[in-house]
Amino acid sequence: MASSAPPLKPGSTIGILGGGQLGRMLAMAAARLGLKTHVYSPHADSPAFDVAADRTVGAFADAEALAGFAGKVDVVTYEFENVPARSAAVLAELCPVRPGPAALAASQDRLAEKEFLVSLGIETAAYVPVEDAGALARAVAKLGRPAILKTRRFGYDGKGQITIREGSDLAACFRSLGGAPSILESMVPFVKEISVIAGRGVDGSFAAYDVTENVHVNHILSTSRAPAAIDQACTEAAVGVTRRIADALDYVGVLGVEIFVTEEAGSAGPPTQKIKVNEIAPRVHNSGHWTLDGAICSQFEQHVRAIAGWPLGSTERHGVMVTMRNLIGDEVKSFAEILAEPGACVHLYGKVEARPGRKMGHVTRIFHEREP
Ligand code: AMP
Repeated sequence: MASSAPPLKPGSTIGILGGGQLGRMLAMAAARLGLKTHVYSPHADSPAFDVAADRTVGAFADAEALAGFAGKVDVVTYEFENVPARSAAVLAELCPVRPGPAALAASQDRLAEKEFLVSLGIETAAYVPVEDAGALARAVAKLGRPAILKTRRFGYDGKGQITIREGSDLAACFRSLGGAPSILESMVPFVKEISVIAGRGVDGSFAAYDVTENVHVNHILSTSRAPAAIDQACTEAAVGVTRRIADALDYVGVLGVEIFVTEEAGSAGPPTQKIKVNEIAPRVHNSGHWTLDGAICSQFEQHVRAIAGWPLGSTERHGVMVTMRNLIGDEVKSFAEILAEPGACVHLYGKVEARPGRKMGHVTRIFHEREP
């Protein structure tokens, strides 16, 4: 159904599952293109509700509410990947869901994600499935320490993971994640973290933005810059794996692929940069926020174009470099100072309470002459 549906007409309605800042920025991009949005979220105070034509407050497992929502929209997309697979299937019976169920299945479960990547011949951190504390001890014996234990499902921004170090009590580590089915990953000695944000159209067309270099603080994205300071071969490899992933999923929309860059000493000359894929996000991604001000067509507009069955836009970057800084928790209090800074593009998400670790907004800066 997803690929065969005709392109949307202007004035059509996009249904968005999830009402956070990603949904909000998708809704604003859709409005610019003459499309309406209907946001479905379990939370009555969702930031995306402020900018959407219609809303449903409902649980993601409420099949009746989902069916009512699907009856009012022309295509459904999502701004976060933990929508139950059964709910996505209910929706897919009623209207096109883009990206389709394969993308959700490959990204909701870290074990399925790793197996999918390995099936494509794409390198990841070494990993071992962990079902119980005994399996954890065997996995640690195999992968060594340090290593990272991650729950298979529902992890984000460092939640649902714990580092196993020398002396860590394995049973306590497993219990601290609620005893949930998990995977143990070897610690990748990365020199940089990068991501590729790319769009794929209904017709299989593909357009990647400049590779983005990311810095995380306390497991939460802090800053991004594009283009990443990596060598040409590494850039091509990162974009290449992203295209393979998108093609294998017959993906429609924007996806983000998070990648570790490692360096291997060469026998002569500079070290060689290699990549390992960490995670696939089947949606617009925080590390692509710089495209709102820093590219001809933003990741949000690109996603809307793709799921509408419209031609993809240009991913060309403005300036020699674009940076993005998240405003997390109390950092948002300095918004007025940042607004006063010439050239700073401020985005605030309309969230009332600035809890620690909560993404409240972001600021992008475009550099036209030389790197800062
Ligand atoms: P994730 O939730 O998998 O995206 O992990 C959040 C962050 O933890 C990543 O951006 C890395 O900074 C770090 N991390 C996760 N997995 C690994 C790994 N296998 N090796 C080294 N660092 C990791």
